[in-house]
Amino acid sequence: MNTLLYMHPSSLEHDPGAGHPEAPARIRAITAMLEREERKGALVGVERREPPRASRAQLERIHQSRYIEAVLGAVPQSGHVRLDPDTVVSPGSDEAALRGAGAAVAAVDAVIAGEAGKAFCALRPPGHHAEAARAMGFCLFNNVAVGARQALDVHGIDRVAIFDFDVHHGNGTQHSFEREPRVQYLSTHQWPLYPGTGARDETGVGNIVNRPLPAGTGSKEWRRVVEADILPAIDGFAPGLVMISAGFDAHRADPLAMLELVEDDFSWVTHELVRLADRHAGGRVVSVLEGGYHLGALASSCLAHLDALRGA
Ligand SMILES: [Zn+2]
Repeated sequence: MNTLLYMHPSSLEHDPGAGHPEAPARIRAITAMLEREERKGALVGVERREPPRASRAQLERIHQSRYIEAVLGAVPQSGHVRLDPDTVVSPGSDEAALRGAGAAVAAVDAVIAGEAGKAFCALRPPGHHAEAARAMGFCLFNNVAVGARQALDVHGIDRVAIFDFDVHHGNGTQHSFEREPRVQYLSTHQWPLYPGTGARDETGVGNIVNRPLPAGTGSKEWRRVVEADILPAIDGFAPGLVMISAGFDAHRADPLAMLELVEDDFSWVTHELVRLADRHAGGRVVSVLEGGYHLGALASSCLAHLDALRGA
């Protein structure tokens, strides 16, 4: 079965301003990599799709109505508006954010309908720091959380596992589901680091697994933790859908953090998650781009991830 790749031109319009690491150049780097691979005849089995906008009802499963209004209403005709010390909107941010959340929803719909086995949503802004009523950490709407809610509430999937390997803890995703036993949220992240949540003893209703790691943690130790604590927990949970918050800022080249992962680690963990999805979830995997701020490492890590999703 094909692997769906969701992208949208609006991801290039959301512009937090000069010098901001969460920049349109991230998507341009991924696009250039994809075009290079397609010219080589690689990416067999990858089917590109443009996502719709998330609907108000879809967003309201995670975000307060007032908050959605406030974000969309803050988008200026020109210039920038700061929502948080790190989170800035520009003309086009509303469209980009709605397509970002809409991609997660569309990807969930498509894999559950059996149109594809796997899907990767390569859009921005990212989502995992966005809270029910607060933009933070470059994030406006919590894309992966909105997608997980679609699986639970629309499709009646009983259990959704979300593994977040972004170098930062996904506070917004954890808070969205810490009292929802049908969602398991697992995260490896550098600690201490922004946003400061994600301690090991934050366990929700037994559905949250946090593994904070010290700066300098490399491939060997990270894989040991994933093998010992993350993969067995997902296996035990037996999800009907595996979701991934795919941030690539744990790469050793990333300028925002100090874990030391490489492309092969993202390939390895993706293969492992696919294996678990094959065992429990009919092979269904939906992955959503989060961070990743070194442009070359972001592009090559996305390729490693996409290749693993399509079974290459
Ligand atoms: Zn991050």
